[in-house]
Amino acid sequence: MALPIVAIVGRPNVGKSTLVNRIAQTGDAIVHEMRGVTRDRSYHKADWNGVEFMLIDTGGIEMGGDDAFQGSIRAQAFEGAREADVIIFLVDGKAGINTDDEEVARILQKAGKPVFVAVNKMDNPARMDEVWEFYALGLGDPWPVSAQHGNGTGDLLDEVVNELRKVEVVPEEEVEAINVAIIGRPNAGKSSLTNKLTNNNRSIVSDVAGTTRDAIDTLVEHEGQMYRIVDTAGLRRKSQIDEDVEYYGFVRAMRAIDRADVALLVIDGTLGLTNEDQRVAGYAAERGCAMVIVLNKWDIVEGPEEKAKIRERIEDRMTFVGYAPVVAISALTGKRVDRIWNAIDDVYANYSRTIPTARLNTWLAGIRETGHTVSKGKAVLRMKYLTQTGTCPPHFTFFVNRPDVVDDNYERYLENRMREAFPLEGTPIRLKFKKKD
Ligand code: GDP
Ligand code: GDP
Repeated sequence: MALPIVAIVGRPNVGKSTLVNRIAQTGDAIVHEMRGVTRDRSYHKADWNGVEFMLIDTGGIEMGGDDAFQGSIRAQAFEGAREADVIIFLVDGKAGINTDDEEVARILQKAGKPVFVAVNKMDNPARMDEVWEFYALGLGDPWPVSAQHGNGTGDLLDEVVNELRKVEVVPEEEVEAINVAIIGRPNAGKSSLTNKLTNNNRSIVSDVAGTTRDAIDTLVEHEGQMYRIVDTAGLRRKSQIDEDVEYYGFVRAMRAIDRADVALLVIDGTLGLTNEDQRVAGYAAERGCAMVIVLNKWDIVEGPEEKAKIRERIEDRMTFVGYAPVVAISALTGKRVDRIWNAIDDVYANYSRTIPTARLNTWLAGIRETGHTVSKGKAVLRMKYLTQTGTCPPHFTFFVNRPDVVDDNYERYLENRMREAFPLEGTPIRLKFKKKD
């Protein structure tokens, strides 16, 4: 389930961290690095009146330029407006309105999102008069709060979650997304690729998966299609305790694969394939995940000969996922990254494909006519009928007189022939043999 997002926007020192600590379940931030190093934001899971949400403290956003201070607060406001479902605009009741507040207010007025002006540091109920000057920001009733002592924060949150309840009524978008896991060994370029795929497209952070809170997904819209990037690279634990990178990487890859329709296996083209790549690819195939092999760092692979050699070596060692298309890119320069969208769409179409029974049986008739006789002892295999019994990935059931006669070799032969006849590139398929006299 996607969690709605509440962004806290405000000048330095107005009390944003204090408010986050009050609202969030734990002080433990989920550090999100997916959008690159300059924008280090913290995400915190929170819950009020049974409504769960993600709290974003945009305070870490920095923008360069002559006026870094101004830039920073404007960037926060824009980011909040883009990403959040509800915005809490925190101002300092002791300091009163300043010009930065006014500038942020102008941005937020145009955001088209619910905005709550929370007037912080109202520790003393006798001084509530000071709150009313914040009406001038043109964002509705100001809410007096004391982040430090907790006064007023409950009332504010009641209203915030009321707004979030309205937001949550649109889960369709969620269901429609293609789940994409970006996997591969450390340093292959997963984060760089994720950045490229999310940066130029509308993207929002969604969901905290499972109980461990160590994955944040990103929803991306590209040419009208929604994709959910199931993250394995963008997050790193704040503590360095789990330094067993290999192990950690593999476990996370498996978790991402479990939730994915399509796995992008990112390979460092300068290093070629590693055993870990093979292991992860094998796991994805076993789990029935569609796959695209991404040969990254193609910008520093020298010459066509070297390129051909690398491709060949990979194809040789990846025969068990021979159905996966290979796309060579540079995540660094962005070259050919656009092709990945098409590759995802294609393999997903095949993964979710339904082939009409009539076409399957026309094909089966052809196999019966041209194929060789398969037998075991005196028993001769007769295949009567074929039908698709599942999708995502496609499952096919052959009704035959003697399922025990079908061995691995013959199954592979049938799979290859099916792949020649039908568009199944990029997806594993499952064949079953059932007895029918
Ligand atoms: P941030 O820079 O916006 O994240 O602000 P902080 O949360 O770090 O707070 C800045 C300062 O304001 C700290 O010294 C806090 O203790 C103080 N502060 C935060 N909330 C309150 C409040 O409700 N009342 C008072 N009096 N001080 C507060
Ligand atoms: P991750 O650990 O798989 O997420 O890998 P990163 O995305 O952090 O990339 C690891 C290193 O490889 C970084 O220094 C990147 O700048 C670099 N890198 C990533 N993609 C490319 C690429 O296409 N070409 C080149 N030359 N370097 C790349």
